[in-house]
Amino acid sequence: MSEKKTDTVIISAGRDPEANFGIVNPPVYHASTVLYPDMATLRAKKRPLVTYGRRGTPTTFALQDAIAELEGGYKTVLTASGLAGCTIALLAHLHAGDHVLITDSVYGPTRNFADKVLKRYGVEVEYYDPLIGNGIAALLRPNTKVLFVEAPGSNTFEVQDIPAMAEIAHAAGALVMMDNTWASPLYFKPFEHGVDVSIQAVTKYICGHSDVMMGSITTTEAAYKATLDMHGDIGMAVAPDDVYLAMRGLRTLSVRLARHMETGLTLAKWFEDRPEVARVIHPALPTDPGHEIWKRDFTGASGLFSIVLKTHAQDAVAAFVDHLELFGIGYSWGGFESLVMPQNPGDYRTATKWEAEGQLIRFHAGLEDVGDLIADLEAAFANMKTVTG
Ligand SMILES: *Cc1c(COP(=O)(O)O)cnc(C)c1O
Repeated sequence: MSEKKTDTVIISAGRDPEANFGIVNPPVYHASTVLYPDMATLRAKKRPLVTYGRRGTPTTFALQDAIAELEGGYKTVLTASGLAGCTIALLAHLHAGDHVLITDSVYGPTRNFADKVLKRYGVEVEYYDPLIGNGIAALLRPNTKVLFVEAPGSNTFEVQDIPAMAEIAHAAGALVMMDNTWASPLYFKPFEHGVDVSIQAVTKYICGHSDVMMGSITTTEAAYKATLDMHGDIGMAVAPDDVYLAMRGLRTLSVRLARHMETGLTLAKWFEDRPEVARVIHPALPTDPGHEIWKRDFTGASGLFSIVLKTHAQDAVAAFVDHLELFGIGYSWGGFESLVMPQNPGDYRTATKWEAEGQLIRFHAGLEDVGDLIADLEAAFANMKTVTG
């Protein structure tokens, strides 16, 4: 049979009904102790696949296999959160004395880990302009071991030229690590664009229902052993019921994402015409500075984007945000529901200066009716006008 399309792979990946009484979904194994039949098996160099609950069960292997296949990598390990995916990947590939280059648009808690923990263990941490492109060559040093990319960037959605940067990093002997959460494994294929280690916050779209914390690290064959070793050495394990929920979410990822994308784009275009809005930051808009690279490398957009208001006035921002009924104020994203979150990139950037006309507000387009969402936004802007006049 010919190479299967993603929408077919997502249905079969990680499943083996024949090995499980014909039952469609992989079973949930709750396990700590795994019994060995005899001393010979216990002492054998070639240990059985399942050795101890922490090291994985057929439940975890099923989701790992599915994510590895969708990302297009060699193998995957699961972590207890998306952040733990980022931290374990960094720990696995950095030693004292190494230098790491991290995009200035990186997810905030990843930056926090680099500043607080990596530095304490003797790693040199340097942030770079997400739009540096080929200019990354000037920042690579003999001890640069990891180039960390995230595209589009958290909150500000800069699109990085990953293939160009990866070529330069590889020539200098550095690994390319990517936080691929925004696009999910469906809309960006990291290993076709030079990435060696790809991280997903499974919490977001893969799980998709705002009820699980999980992450994944998928690697090339060359980067796998160091990743698996650190994952094991640090004692990382995930709960089987959460793996089951993430696997259930994964099956519908494609249809959900298509709707998140459509609604997100409709809202983004609507915002572009609003007098209260200075600009809309959404890579799938032709007016977006990252649009050409996005169109070249990505096959779709998620439902997460930002707007910049014309005003910084916090009473006006509150009059808008607090009036929204269908957009919950909350961290995270990727569930079925719409969300809103004001963000202040100027507070944490160090390699670049964030200059904006007004308050940045991040939106997650959920699966509600888009007409209802627009009516809600319209009413909230009307309420804002009572403050701004
Ligand atoms: C949410 C998020 C994470 C962290 O995921 P958690 O499961 O919340 O720890 C990492 N990277 C990006 C880009 C995210 O949006």
